[in-house]
Amino acid sequence: MQAEFPLPDVHWEPARELWKGAARGELHMPRCDSCGRYVWYPLPPCRHCGAAQWTWTTASGRGRLFSWSIVRHAWIPQFADRLPFVTGLVALEEDPAVRLVTYVVDCAPPDLHCDMPVRAVFRPLRYPGVRGEVTAPMFAPQRG
Ligand SMILES: [Zn+2]
Repeated sequence: MQAEFPLPDVHWEPARELWKGAARGELHMPRCDSCGRYVWYPLPPCRHCGAAQWTWTTASGRGRLFSWSIVRHAWIPQFADRLPFVTGLVALEEDPAVRLVTYVVDCAPPDLHCDMPVRAVFRPLRYPGVRGEVTAPMFAPQRG
């Protein structure tokens, strides 16, 4: 579906609850019904215990910046008006072994640092020439 790229498919069953939570301003993450650990990416089996069942729960949305990249070149034209932007890996407060790939927003690139406390914010993903938008979890510095 090149015409729909790059919006995420919010109806794709394995990640549908993530997008539903984001639309309500909540970070939904699956927790294993057997061992209680967070399961990310949400495809079986649980990498900790091998179980195949989990329950989506609302996480705090707090975490720390594990790593990031400053994107200065638009490899596809839909990203041109965002430059520069920051993609990052955020380690969740509840389980730092769970690292979400995300946008890092509301922070100038020189101010980024490892282990920076961040919190989830929910912003629309919109791209020129692409119909529709999706509310997505992104991460911004924790303030105060
Ligand atoms: Zn498990």
